[in-house]
Amino acid sequence: MLKGKTALVTGSTSGIGLGIAKALAAQGANIVLNGFGDVDAPKAEIAALGVQVAYHGADMSKPAEIEDMVSFATKTFGSLDILVNNAGIQHVARIENFPVDKWDAIIAINMSSAFHATRLALPGMLANNWGRIINVASVHGLVGSAEKSAYVAAKHGVVGLTKVTALENATTGVTCNAICPGWVLTPLVQKQVDAKATAQGISNVDATKQLLGEKEPSLQFTTAEELGALAVFFCSPAGNNVRGVAWNMDGGWAAQ
Ligand code: NAD
Repeated sequence: MLKGKTALVTGSTSGIGLGIAKALAAQGANIVLNGFGDVDAPKAEIAALGVQVAYHGADMSKPAEIEDMVSFATKTFGSLDILVNNAGIQHVARIENFPVDKWDAIIAINMSSAFHATRLALPGMLANNWGRIINVASVHGLVGSAEKSAYVAAKHGVVGLTKVTALENATTGVTCNAICPGWVLTPLVQKQVDAKATAQGISNVDATKQLLGEKEPSLQFTTAEELGALAVFFCSPAGNNVRGVAWNMDGGWAAQ
């Protein structure tokens, strides 16, 4: 379905970003990966799906590097058709103790990077009258949780940016939507499970049960594969008139 299209997925060396990149590649899209850590393994996983894959190591807190990455994607594959704004980090602390540098980093990486990548990708998408911008927000783009001020502020911002991007391009072939996952067992969440286990002197299994039980009525993690399938739907012809939604896959978290 996506043969001949190019998708840039930010923060795709692990977790949700890699899952979405694999789902888009399985539909035939060429992929530009981004993110830190091991690059060879994710590149090989994408190449095994029979598409072309490239990597750009832009730090998503740096607008000039984002600009270089968007132009690299366009130069490498001829166009940039699908942009998935996914890179993100977390820090947990009460507001009065929240380190200012962590606040700045979370706002830059989790929110401002989506603005920069979107503003740079839009002209090419509009010229082709086809584009899909998918913002990986969070259930925390819809509701709050204590000790996550920067994350919740950034994710609410991403949901707002999604609506404005959708509206400004509503009469064109470019759509923009957000995905709002609940808990997904990635390195980002494993760190929170580990911290809970250490703080309370409980096992990893009990900490996981507690984490899910506090917020997610289904008591199940959403998977990166499920999130990838939603991204594919947004890119499909059936997603043509889906514009500006913030679609939660959260086991009922925000329904409470
Ligand atoms: P992860 O830690 O597995 O992956 C994060 C990715 O972002 C990695 O590839 C990492 O290298 C990259 N990254 C981090 N800082 C970066 C920077 N400055 N520049 C470029 N890349 C950078 O985390 P994840 O859980 O897969 O999270 C992906 C997205 O999903 C995030 O936006 C996160 O907020 C969101 N999300 C996660 C969950 C969850 O439960 N895991 C729930 C809702 C939303």
